[in-house]
Amino acid sequence: MIWFGKSKISNEATELVEMPDGLWAKCPSCNETIYKKELELNLFTCFKCNHHFKIGINEYISLIFDESSFKEFNINLKAVDAINFIDSKPYIERIKEAKNKSGFENSVICGIGEIFSHKMVFGIMNSSFLEGSLGSLEIEKIYRSVRYSIDNRIPFVLLFSSSGNRIQESAISLMQIAKLTSAVNELRSEGILFVTILTEPTIGETAFLYAMQGDIIIAEPGANLGLSNKSSLEQKSKKRISDKFPKSDYYFNNGQIDIIVDRKQLKATISKIIDWYNK
Ligand SMILES: [Zn+2]
Repeated sequence: MIWFGKSKISNEATELVEMPDGLWAKCPSCNETIYKKELELNLFTCFKCNHHFKIGINEYISLIFDESSFKEFNINLKAVDAINFIDSKPYIERIKEAKNKSGFENSVICGIGEIFSHKMVFGIMNSSFLEGSLGSLEIEKIYRSVRYSIDNRIPFVLLFSSSGNRIQESAISLMQIAKLTSAVNELRSEGILFVTILTEPTIGETAFLYAMQGDIIIAEPGANLGLSNKSSLEQKSKKRISDKFPKSDYYFNNGQIDIIVDRKQLKATISKIIDWYNK
């Protein structure tokens, strides 16, 4: 099991625009120059416009869970290349590169921790590993966590930051969807709370469809959400798509998201939901 330490600015926080001396970042939304240490203290949100910078797994775990309470499940599971897939390079080679680049073994971490002393089973996706795509290993990790949640009657929270299904595994990863769907349905029939959190980006059929199945669906402000992202829609349609591509506020205004939560309020909001569920 891994115990996560205090938040540090990790190489997952890829959206930061580096300034020459490395101490400053520029907000991509309002162009404000921000001292990085202050940005970290403000949980990677812009002081001026409240833009939510993309952050990684370690940062989310630190901000959501009580200190040192998170314990990871299934750290020894490894990805396999069941169909010997090769495009411009072998799939296994891509996994090795993603491990070296991201510092993670795969694109999902699941485990259990406490949030203001409430127990919570938690899964989180990692968009810095092969764009957060979900292979059979990642879906198996989520499936086992859902089972743990059901067996121990503990709320399950899944934070999305994914580009969807992993194309290198083809039908193998698609076949896992049925297994996960049945487990999520069992969560519902057993009355176990299932909360989904949609962060930047939650794109792609697999991720987006599961994200929409939460009993309560939370999104961060300004997160890009949908079945497909702007650039791939432009490639497919060969047309320029409006810059006003739907973000979390669009889905909230159309009733598909229950609540948009500022990152600074995320822990308190999840805790209140669990409190309400436990009563
Ligand atoms: Zn800003």
